[in-house]
Amino acid sequence: MPEDADIQRCFATEYVTARQRLLDRAEKMELEVETLAISKKGPHEETLSTDFLWIGPANATKLILHTSGVHGVEGYPGSAAAMWILDGISSKQLSLPDDCAIAFAHAINPWGMAWLRRVNEDNADLNRNFLPPGEAYEGEPENYARLDHLLNPTSMKTGREYYTIRAAWHSFRLGFSNTKQAVQEGQYTRPTSLQYGGGRLAESSQNFIDWCERKLTDVRQVVWIDFHTGLGPFGVDSLLVAEGVDEKALMSRYGERVQPLDPAKGVAYKIRGGIQAGIEARFPDKEWTSITQEFGTIKPIPLLKLARAENRLTQWSGKPPLRLLQSKERRNMLDAFNPRSLKWRRMILQRSRAIIEDAITHLSEE
Ligand SMILES: [Zn+2]
Repeated sequence: MPEDADIQRCFATEYVTARQRLLDRAEKMELEVETLAISKKGPHEETLSTDFLWIGPANATKLILHTSGVHGVEGYPGSAAAMWILDGISSKQLSLPDDCAIAFAHAINPWGMAWLRRVNEDNADLNRNFLPPGEAYEGEPENYARLDHLLNPTSMKTGREYYTIRAAWHSFRLGFSNTKQAVQEGQYTRPTSLQYGGGRLAESSQNFIDWCERKLTDVRQVVWIDFHTGLGPFGVDSLLVAEGVDEKALMSRYGERVQPLDPAKGVAYKIRGGIQAGIEARFPDKEWTSITQEFGTIKPIPLLKLARAENRLTQWSGKPPLRLLQSKERRNMLDAFNPRSLKWRRMILQRSRAIIEDAITHLSEE
């Protein structure tokens, strides 16, 4: 059980601090860090990078992969989760079977983490950016056009914000799950709007693919935990898996929290360009168990309202980057995706390590 001091030690509120803690921990554990930077800089002119750690045999055929910060600002609790898992490994509370390694990808979207956004430097949601090879960065969900003016106001003039956002969510006689689907699926047509998937593969997406190409050569079986925060009950994780996987088998290993990505059920929805589907498509020879571990924070309508307000400010206020970073909208993003509550943070650390225990049991079978 993590103590208050552990929580203090694991959670950071600036990208530089989170990254430095990871590097210090790696040094203590005598681990090599592989750093893949992007060209954009952080608010302190610091280098922004995804940092990779690998623990265990270099030629392991089984791998537990922990990724975080695909949605930038969600990287703060993601980084804390990685720290707490690393603590478990160095204190030998977690031990890997032979022939099994664990790898961490810290801050898949470092720009978003540093600048307190979910998206990257091109306003792209990286969990919509990994279209399978050959699929064009084009198109939008059927009903997106009808929601765009509500979701993406193009001036800073304020109106009846809360009602507008409720309307966007509930109305149009689309039904809740259809609206959720239209809002969340991903779109490739409106670069300043929400849920933009990008115009091409992002630099940081390419970095992650390059790392996989180099490191996964000998790996046959992967359990991949992609850490997120946002939707769902406060502090509780949903384990989102692609439609069509063997849910029963997954539930027997990972518990009742397993949910398929089906908009009619649970917190999830179908998406295009998701990181896990995109990587699986590029490495089809591996046996993948891909799980999005999503911890709940606040309710969906306030969450959408925040994302809308933050995007509006970024796109239309004309403020320079550092002023945007200091805005209440960006601070609200940090608080919404990385709540300060000690109770929440303790739940995050506990379950982040517990799922790794389940993955270890899973990979110890046969
Ligand atoms: Zn996320």
